[in-house]
Formats: sequence, structure tokens, C-alpha cells
Amino acid sequence: MSKNTPKAIRGTQDIFGPDAEAFAFVVETFERVRKLYRFRRAEFPVFEKTEVFARSLGETTDVVSKEMYSFEDRGGESLTLRPEFTAGIARAYITNGWQQFAPLKLATHGPLFRYERPQKGRYRQFHQIDAEIIGAADPQADVELLAMADQLLKELGINDVTLHLNTLGDGESREAWRAALIEYFRAVKDELSEDSQERLEKNPLRILDSKDRKDKPFLSDAPKIDEFLSDEARDFFAAVTEGLDAAGVEWVRADSLVRGLDYYRHTAFEFIPDEGSVSADALGSQSTVLGGGRYDGLMESLGGPATPAVGWAAGIERLAMLVGERQAPVLEAMVLLEHDEGLAVANALLAKLRAGGIVSDIIASGSVKKRYDKAMKQNPQHILRVNETGFYDISGDGDASHIDAAVKRETR
Ligand code: ATP
Ligand code: MG
Repeated sequence: MSKNTPKAIRGTQDIFGPDAEAFAFVVETFERVRKLYRFRRAEFPVFEKTEVFARSLGETTDVVSKEMYSFEDRGGESLTLRPEFTAGIARAYITNGWQQFAPLKLATHGPLFRYERPQKGRYRQFHQIDAEIIGAADPQADVELLAMADQLLKELGINDVTLHLNTLGDGESREAWRAALIEYFRAVKDELSEDSQERLEKNPLRILDSKDRKDKPFLSDAPKIDEFLSDEARDFFAAVTEGLDAAGVEWVRADSLVRGLDYYRHTAFEFIPDEGSVSADALGSQSTVLGGGRYDGLMESLGGPATPAVGWAAGIERLAMLVGERQAPVLEAMVLLEHDEGLAVANALLAKLRAGGIVSDIIASGSVKKRYDKAMKQNPQHILRVNETGFYDISGDGDASHIDAAVKRETR
């Protein structure tokens, strides 16, 4: 590599090997589980007009004020690389008139971009899986969405992560809580962190979310949402928790859990590794793996019709870290070409093996003498040796009848 070879952008990753297999395992498992719950696959643009994010997330959020990759395109329009999925999905729902499909269960995954300080589990380009139920006002939607998240984690083999659940109430409850928080924190304003002093008037809920040591002593005594919940909001939350209990989804109440974004109402949640667990060790301080909630106010902030909705997103890299390294699929059959004249036969064999769903590969190059060792290095379950007359012979441990059947099957 010469000195002027360009380097990768800070906070981006080239993922390969066992990490890439873990990444793929997360996505494949998500694809399988989302079908069980009848979430429909959708794809969205990686960039949107900047206002899509500015209007829906709110100017005071960290994402909009500090983390967005925004630029002017050649036509002078301000565009932004998506920092999250929900705002773009809401834009798509409105502009495509997807109201006709409501309630609409959507699933997607792909890259997101945030200008953050890179560290373990935190990147500038990262990837999420995302699930949304749009146009559903009933708590059953929240239950379904959370049951899906819970099953996904279990199927990934992640069993030491727990659902932390809160309600932010309806608009009215949230406003009353907000006012009480402002009053409470105003009394100790000078002792709060600089960030929280700034949040105080604009986005006081976010103070509860603060990880700053200066704020911590004031958090536990802050007013709780439960004091401000309307009867309706209380019933809604009860219906969600009853549904989760019936579905066997374990949860704990986290009454100071808020979501960083302004548009959340009612249910808010995060899946967090249990204290002292293997997953907590693996993730360090970047501990939320999956988060989301109900965002009944979002569509209106984009100029669309009032549309209740609930969704979550999970970082694929963080899930992949919990899944651990995974190996590529086992090599079931290796075709070993022992004489170059047998190449046509070897290719025909391979075609039949693969058509028969058998993971297979070929060693056909380099010195003939070294091919056997090369083949063994790949750790195949079975070796098919092909000689110059086109004769082949299957060796290896265990039952080879499925391989035999695949190569004997007549092709049309
Ligand atoms: P955090 O508190 O860790 O910054 P967040 O509240 O910003 O998380 P969300 O916007 O809710 O995160 O995104 C959902 C999930 O996406 C997170 O739980 C995490 O798994 C993942 N995630 C968010 N930001 C990053 C990032 N910069 N790098 C890698 N994964 C991320
Ligand atoms: Mg963040």
C-alpha cells in the first residue's frame, strides 16, 4: 500500500469473515421472523430532503442538531443521508397514499448515517433492522411488534437481554409531565450538565436520558409520568402489559425511560442487556440493542393525516456482536480435480450438487500434487475425486447418500 492510498472514512467499517457471517445471520433471522408476523418487506431511499428529518425528529434532538450528514446537491437542494428509518417511512406512507393498506406492517433494513464519535458499537455508517406498524391505534399493535422483537432476539440466541418498558402517556399527559419536569429541574439548573441546562426549556424529557455524572443525582427524584397519566393513557398501557404477559414476553418497568425523539407517545421501550451478563460485557456502555415506541404525532408533523403508528429499530452491528462470530456454512462436498482432463465432468458434477442444494466447491488449479492438501484445508464433509477418465469417487466421514442422490439425479 502506498502512502497516498485513500483510507476508509472514520466511523465506517469493512465487514468480512466471521463478523460478516454474524451480520448476515442477523438479517436472515429478521427476514424469517418478520414473515411469521406478516410484516411486508419494503425498501426506501438512503437520502431524503433534509426537512423530512428536521420536521419529524425536531430541531432540538441530538440527531438533527449534531449528527446529520446534510449536503446541497447540484441543484441546490438540501439533502440528508438518513440517520434513522422512521421519518423516511412516514414520508413514503404519505406521498404514496399507503393509507389504503392500513394497518400496514412494514419491515426493512439497511445503512444509516450519523456524525457521532466512533467507538465500540458506535459508527458513522451503521445498519439497522426496522419494523413498523402504521395506521394502528390499538395496543394490540404494540404487543405484536414487541412479541416479534422478543422472538427475534431469542432466535438469534440472545437470552440475556430484557425489555425495558415505559409509557410517555398521550399528548396531554406528556405535556403535564413535561411542565413538572421543567419546574423540578429549573430549581437545580446550575448544578446540571451544560447539555441538560440547554435541554431544560426545549426538551426536558431528554434530561432523564442523560448519562452525565452531574445529572445523575437528580434523576431518581424527578417527577414520574405515572402521576400525570390520563385514564385513557393508563388503560392503554395496561392493555399493552397484559398482552405482553399473555404472549410470554418478559419486561420490566423503566419509568424514566424516554426516547430521544419528540414524536413519541404512549409506549416507549428498549431491549437492554441484563446487568453482569455476557451481552453487557460484549457491548460495554453502548447498551441498547433495540429501541422504539409509539409515534402517533409524527405523520401530522410532516403535513399528513393523523396516523397512529408504532415501531422499533435495532443496530445490526450490535446484535451481531451479541451473536458472536459465526462460521460460513459447512462445506458439504468438495470436488477435487485430480487430472485436468476431467474438468468437464467436474463442472457437470458441481452443477448437479448445487442444484440439489448441496454446499459445494472445487479445487481445480495449481499443482495437481498439492490439490488434495488444499481441499482438506477447507474441511469438507465429503470429497469427490475426479480423474482423467471422468471417473469419480466419493470419500469422507458419515452418510453420503444425499450427495450420491444429487449427482445421480437426471437433469432436464
Ligand atoms: P444510543 O443511545 O446508543 O445513541 P439511540 O437512542 O441513538 O442509541 P436509536 O436512534 O433508537 O438509538 O437507534 C436504534 C438502535 O440503533 C440502537 O439501539 C443501536 O442498536 C443502533 N444504533 C444507533 N446509533 C448507532 C451508531 N452510531 N452505531 C451503531 N449502532 C447504532
Ligand atoms: Mg444516539
